[in-house]
Amino acid sequence: MKYISILGSTGSVGTQTLEVVRNNKDITVTALAAGSNIKLLEEQIREFRPNIVCVWDNEKAKELSLNVKDLNVIIVTGMDGLIECATEPKAQIVVTAIVGMIGIRPTIEAIKAGKDIALANKETLVTAGHIIMPLLKEHHVNLLPVDSEHSAIFQAINGEKGNEISRIILTASGGPFRGKKREDLLNIKVEDALKHPNWSMGQKITIDSSTLVNKGLEVIEAKWLFDVELDKIQVVVQPQSVIHSAVEFQDGGIIAQMGTPDMKLPIQYALYYPERRNLPGARVDFFELGKITFEKPDMDTFTGLKLAYQVARIGHSMPTVYNAANELAVSMFLNRKISYLQITELIEMAMNQHKIVQNPSVSEILNIETETYDFIKSILNK
Ligand code: NAD
Ligand code: MG
Repeated sequence: MKYISILGSTGSVGTQTLEVVRNNKDITVTALAAGSNIKLLEEQIREFRPNIVCVWDNEKAKELSLNVKDLNVIIVTGMDGLIECATEPKAQIVVTAIVGMIGIRPTIEAIKAGKDIALANKETLVTAGHIIMPLLKEHHVNLLPVDSEHSAIFQAINGEKGNEISRIILTASGGPFRGKKREDLLNIKVEDALKHPNWSMGQKITIDSSTLVNKGLEVIEAKWLFDVELDKIQVVVQPQSVIHSAVEFQDGGIIAQMGTPDMKLPIQYALYYPERRNLPGARVDFFELGKITFEKPDMDTFTGLKLAYQVARIGHSMPTVYNAANELAVSMFLNRKISYLQITELIEMAMNQHKIVQNPSVSEILNIETETYDFIKSILNK
C-alpha cells in the first residue's frame, strides 16, 4: 500500500490524481488540501477518507468541519494547515497539484519531512529551484515530475545513467493562437484564451499555455530537474501534442515519449515509478493521426518565451519576478482588468525595474513576490 497526500485535490491535476487512485486499489490518500471548493472536497473526503484536510479559506474550513462532523477527519486551514497536510506522518508521496508560488513552503516542508514529491506545481521549482534541488539531496528524497513534458524527458533518460544529454527537445502545442501575430492578439478575450486545442487544464495554466509563458516556466523547470545548460534546451512546436518531449544523446540518437494527451499517464508514472501499470483510455492511432508536424516557436509574438530564456540566464531572483508578475497579470486578465498583451508587457516591465537578489532565501522570494505585485499595481494605478 502507498500513502499519499494531495495538495490541490479539487483542481485539474488533483482530480485526475484521484482518478488514478480510484483505478488502482493500493493507494491510500491520507491528506487533501484545496482552496475553497468544499462541496467537491466533501465528496472526496467521503470517498477517499483522508485523516486530515486543509481548506485555505478559513470560513469555508469552518463550514466543511460542520458538514463532515459525522466523520473522523481533522479540518485545518491556511498555510499552517497546508503544511500539516504536506507533512502528514503516514504520507510517503506528496502530490503538489496546487497552483502558484503558494506551493513553495509546503513543498519545502514535505521534503524536510522525507516525503517524495510528485511535482506538478512548476512555479515552486521555477522560483525556488536553487533551494529545492539541494534540499532533495540532503533529505534523500525523490522528485518525480508530473508535468507531461518533464515526465517524458524523465522517461526518456531512464536507463541512460551516465550518458550525457546533448539536447532536450521540449515540445509545445503552440496554444490556441499559434500562427497569429501581435496585432491579431490586441482584442483577445478571456474565453478565446481559455480554449486550449489539446489539453483540458486549470485556468491559470491554460492562459500560460496561450502566451507561451507556460513553456517558459517549463524551460526553467527542465533546467533545474535535469541539470542541463540552457543552450541545450530547445522548444519545438508540435501542434498535435503526441510527442510529449524528447532527449538527444551524444551519438545523435533521440528518445521521445509519445502518447495521447492525458495527464493521468505522467501522474500514474510518478506515483508508481519505475513500474508501469495499465491505464484505461485512448491510444495513439498513427494511421488516424496521419502526420506529426514541427514548427519554430514565434518568440517575437509570444515574448513570454523569449523573456523566460533571459530570466533563466540571469537566474537568482529574476525567475521569481517573472513568475510573480505573470501570476498577478494572469489573474487580472481573468478578472478582465487588463488586456491580453498586457500580461507579457507587465512581466517585462517588472523584470526591467528589478534589482537582483543573489540566491534568495524563501522569505526573500516571498518578499520579491509582494514587491512585484506592488510594482504592477502602482503601474496600473498611474
Ligand atoms: P487548477 O486551478 O485546476 O487547480 C489548482 C488547485 O489548487 C485547486 O484544487 C485549488 O483549490 C488549489 N489551490 C489554489 N490555491 C490554493 C491555496 N491557497 N491553498 C490550497 N489549495 C489551493 O490547476 P491545475 O491545472 O490542476 O494546475 C495545478 C499545478 O499543476 C499548476 O502549477 C500547473 O502549472 C501544474 N500543471 C498542470 C497541468 C494540467 O494539466 N492541469 C499540467 C502540468 C502542470
Ligand atoms: Mg507541461
